[in-house]
Amino acid sequence: MATFVVQKHDATRLHYDFRLEVGGVLRSWAVPRGPSLDPAQRRLAVEVQDHELSWGDFEGTIGAGYGAGTVIVWDRGTWSPLRELPFDRALAEGHASFELHGEKLRGGFTLRRMHAGEKPQWLLIKRRDEEADAAPDPVGSRPESVITGRTVEDLIGDA
Ligand code: MN
Repeated sequence: MATFVVQKHDATRLHYDFRLEVGGVLRSWAVPRGPSLDPAQRRLAVEVQDHELSWGDFEGTIGAGYGAGTVIVWDRGTWSPLRELPFDRALAEGHASFELHGEKLRGGFTLRRMHAGEKPQWLLIKRRDEEADAAPDPVGSRPESVITGRTVEDLIGDA
């Protein structure tokens, strides 16, 4: 099964990099407020450049330049599509539904493109299913790395 990863990235602006393995790369979206398990929450997800699969394991500090800041692996696991359509075509059409099998994020989600252009803007929305949960939001209640159990603040404290 294909993998997904969410990296919490304390950069110029804190965001969560949501990445789905599609066609041998990590398709990536920057989610300023992070993913939610509450179907009523529609989280802005700005499409950004693809990343190599190996990037999904990265935790630590990025020095000067693009993305400078501190990164932890906030969640990871596998995912599967929820529609028969080839998934890359679903993304091209701007409406993709999938199920996440992570440690914090589970169940169905939808990515829907609202604005195309140079930095396409999507919404990441939890689907209504048995994994949907109005509270508490894991971004707030479970801030730690799923690899080390450490937080962004712990890593910054080391520096
Ligand atoms: Mn980032």
